[in-house]
Amino acid sequence: MSCKSTLEECIPLPIPEEELIDLTVKAKDWAIMHGAAMRSKTNFSPDSLNFAPFLLTPSSFPRKEYEKAVELQPIINRLMHNVAHDEEFLTTTLAETIKVDEFTGNLFNIYKKVLSNGFGQRISLGILRSDLMLESRCKSLVTSKGNNENEKPCAFCCWKQVEINTIASGFGHLGPVSRAIQSFVLRELNHPEKLLSMPENRALSGICDGMIRAWQIYNNPCAIILFLIEDISYNICDQRFHEFYIREMCPHIKILRRTLTEVYKYGKLGLNKELLLGDCEVSVIYFRAGYEPGHYHSHNEWDARYMMECSTAIKCPSIHYHLAGTKKVQQALAEPGMLERFINDPEEIKAVGKIFTGLYSLEDNEVGNATYEMALKEPERFVLKPQREGGGNNVYGLDIPDALRKMTRVERSAWILMDLIKPPISRGYMIRPGGHMPPPIVDVVSELGIFGVIIGDVDNIICNYQSGHMLRTKLSTANEGGVAAGLGALDSPYLVD
Ligand code: ADP
Ligand code: MG
Repeated sequence: MSCKSTLEECIPLPIPEEELIDLTVKAKDWAIMHGAAMRSKTNFSPDSLNFAPFLLTPSSFPRKEYEKAVELQPIINRLMHNVAHDEEFLTTTLAETIKVDEFTGNLFNIYKKVLSNGFGQRISLGILRSDLMLESRCKSLVTSKGNNENEKPCAFCCWKQVEINTIASGFGHLGPVSRAIQSFVLRELNHPEKLLSMPENRALSGICDGMIRAWQIYNNPCAIILFLIEDISYNICDQRFHEFYIREMCPHIKILRRTLTEVYKYGKLGLNKELLLGDCEVSVIYFRAGYEPGHYHSHNEWDARYMMECSTAIKCPSIHYHLAGTKKVQQALAEPGMLERFINDPEEIKAVGKIFTGLYSLEDNEVGNATYEMALKEPERFVLKPQREGGGNNVYGLDIPDALRKMTRVERSAWILMDLIKPPISRGYMIRPGGHMPPPIVDVVSELGIFGVIIGDVDNIICNYQSGHMLRTKLSTANEGGVAAGLGALDSPYLVD
C-alpha cells in the first residue's frame, strides 16, 4: 500500500465568488506593499514591482515530515561542509564531468589554482537550502514481531531530496513573507485559529545573522559586505530585504552591490590579499550571481571570480562549497557506502540515506551505460539533469531519449539521471499578475526548501544551524516550479497530523 496521493486543503473550497474577488484584490495589494514582489521581466522598469505569484491559502504538509526535515538540516550542513573540504572526493567525483562540462571545468580550475597557491581565507560561510518533495509512492515498511516485513499503509508521504543548493540560495525573504500574506488572508477569512498550524519562519534573520557573524569573524570594523549580483536583479526584494535587515541590526556594516564585471573593473588585492573595491575592504562576499555560465560574459568575470577566491574575504560560497553543490556530487553521495566517508554516526547515516531517491551516473563506463539503457527503456520514470542551477535546464520523461541520443558517450558524463518524485496533489487558488479573475481552483504540488547556515574551516565548525524554510508550489502538470522563472508561486506549509 502506498501513501496519500492527495492532501486536503486547509479550508473548505471554493470560497464564494464575491468574497474571493474582494480578498484576491486585497491580498495582491498586501503582497506588493510588503515586498512579496519582483521586477517584471516582460515590462521591466527599475522603478516598479509586480507582486510575485502566490497561493491564496497555505498548502498542507505533514507535520512529522516537516519536523524531520528541520531536524536533519544541521546534519546536512555538516555533510556538505565535509564534502567541500574533501579534495580527493571532489577531484575524483568531478573528473569525468569537467572534461565535457566547460562551466564546471572553469570552476574546478579555479579550485585547483587556489589549492596550489594556498587559500587566502580558510573559513567559509555556507548558506544552504535543501529542497525536497513528498513522495506519494513511498512504501512504509513496518516490522511486526514474528512476521517478515509487512507493508502497512502510511498516513502520509515520506519526502525525498530534490537537490541541495550551496550558492545563491534564494527566498530568505520571500519564504517568510509568503507566510505573512497567507496569515493575512486566513484572518480576513475569519480563520485565525489556522495560523497555529503555520510554523514560524525566521529564514531572513537566520541567513543575515550568518553574514553578520562572518563579518565579525573577519574582524575589521571598517570592512564592508559585498553582495555579488546579476546585471539585472529581477528578484530584487529577496536581496534588498537582506541588506535592509543587516543595516537595521548593524548600521555600522556597509553593504555594496556589485556585478562580476564591476569587481573585475574596480577590484584588486591588497598587500595581504585583502579584497579592495575602491577604498573599501571586503569582509564577506554573498554570491547572488556566478552560478550560471551567462553571468560570465568574458574572461574578465572569471578573473574576478579567481581574485575573490584568492582573497581573504569570507566567501558565501567559497569555490569548494560551490563544487560540493553540483548535481554530480549529489549523485555520488547517494552511492552505497559513500555517506560513511563524511558522517560518523550510524543513525545519522541512516537518516540521510533515506532521503535520497534513485540517482544514477551517466559516465562512460559499465554503470553509466546501464543507466543509459534504463533511461531509454523507461524514460517516464526519470529526470535528466546537467550541472546547472537556477531552473529550466532539466529534461523530463519522454524528452529524455532524444536528448540522450544527441550526446556522445563522453558528453553524457556532464549529466546525471534521477528518479522522478511524484508528490501528492492538493488544490488551491494561484494568484498571478494579469491572472484570471476570479482565480480558478487548480491542482498543485509543492516543494519545500529548508535553509541551513554553517561557518567553519577544514578543522573546525564555528556555527551550524537550521534557519527557516520556503515553500514553492506549481501546477501539478508543470515540470519545474521556479518562481523567478515564472512557473511557481509563493506558498507556505500548513502542518497537518
Ligand atoms: P535547479 O538547480 O535548476 O533548481 P533542480 O534539481 O532543483 O535544478 O530542478 C528544478 C526543478 O525541477 C525542481 O524545483 C523541481 O520542481 C523539478 N525536479 C527536479 N528534480 C525532480 C525530481 N527528481 N522529481 C520531480 N521533480 C523534480
Ligand atoms: Mg532547484
